[in-house]
Amino acid sequence: MYKAEYIWIDGAEPTAKLRSKTKIIEDGVEPGIWGFDGSSTNQAAGESSDCVLKPVRITPDPIRGGDNKLVLCEVLLITMKPHPTNTRAALAAAAKKYAKHEMWFGIEQEYTFFDGIKPLGWPDNGFPAPQFGYYCGVGADEIFGREIVEAHSDACMAAGLKIAGTNAEVMPAQWEFQIGPNDPLECSDHMWLARWLLYRIAEDFDVSATLNPKPIPGDWNGAGCHTNFSTKAMRESYPPIEAACKALGEKVELHVKNYGDGIERRLTGRHETAPYNKFSWGVSNRAASIRIPWQVAVDKKGYAEDRRPNANMDPYVVTRLITETVCADAEKRGIK
Ligand code: ADP
Ligand code: MN
Ligand code: MN
Ligand code: MN
Repeated sequence: MYKAEYIWIDGAEPTAKLRSKTKIIEDGVEPGIWGFDGSSTNQAAGESSDCVLKPVRITPDPIRGGDNKLVLCEVLLITMKPHPTNTRAALAAAAKKYAKHEMWFGIEQEYTFFDGIKPLGWPDNGFPAPQFGYYCGVGADEIFGREIVEAHSDACMAAGLKIAGTNAEVMPAQWEFQIGPNDPLECSDHMWLARWLLYRIAEDFDVSATLNPKPIPGDWNGAGCHTNFSTKAMRESYPPIEAACKALGEKVELHVKNYGDGIERRLTGRHETAPYNKFSWGVSNRAASIRIPWQVAVDKKGYAEDRRPNANMDPYVVTRLITETVCADAEKRGIK
């Protein structure tokens, strides 16, 4: 027998949370459909509380090891139709519709470790030294939680997730990991599994990880989820990259209001952000909404970075919106 950890996304508002529970399964049997009490997750009323868990991506469980598994699920109604909180189903449809554009995503997840009510390693009273030496820093005076970060990236690798790297961030106790590049569904599934592993591993250190986009008000960086993207055409030449930036500039409100709760607290125009209600794009510009990396401008092909999504964004929603906006525009311009 082995343990399968069924993981799903709940109906918490304004930001959904991860949930999981364990099923013991006979050897040789694959994890199948299961259920849960939706009245405890803001996904159903008490009178008809059953929701369905449908496995969509199964990986080895790096925490329990052995034959144990992680089972990422979609939530369905008992009619087997997607639950209203299931944002993955709409992404699956958009990814299929625009599959010929071969969209890739690479997402940079920023997050902050907390020890009780304060960021990990911060003094009980007052604040640490102002931001400067922490980004990609080294040393016990500047780095808090590296052992958790190492355990997390090892776990992601052992689970077969496409983790691309990690770094310490500008605010002390803030960190980043990247997933990608991979197709929209795989990138988003891997991101949700990597988030679950982050919370689960930090739990063993008595530390909580938060995706709060602005955990400390004032002169401290917020936490984002820069979303790098490319179509096949963008990976081959430069004009489609500029066209994608312009297309995103025509749908600013639709995107920003779906890029994570509290985006106006983070996208202030300070701390390496552009104001949430002002769209801009440019080469190397970390104060723009969309940045074209310097190397991409030199190579005249590659990808662009949407810097607006919050740390607490839903990757199923963000990758769907970018796929729809960029690919619909490409088709309008006659790129099939
Ligand atoms: P930054 O300089 O913004 O901190 P990072 O190195 O943290 O950049 O993240 C860049 C991300 O871009 C990585 O996740 C990487 O996988 C992704 N990426 C690289 N090439 C592409 C591409 N062609 N399409 C989409 N994403 C890409
Ligand atoms: Mn980065
Ligand atoms: Mn970063
Ligand atoms: Mn970035």
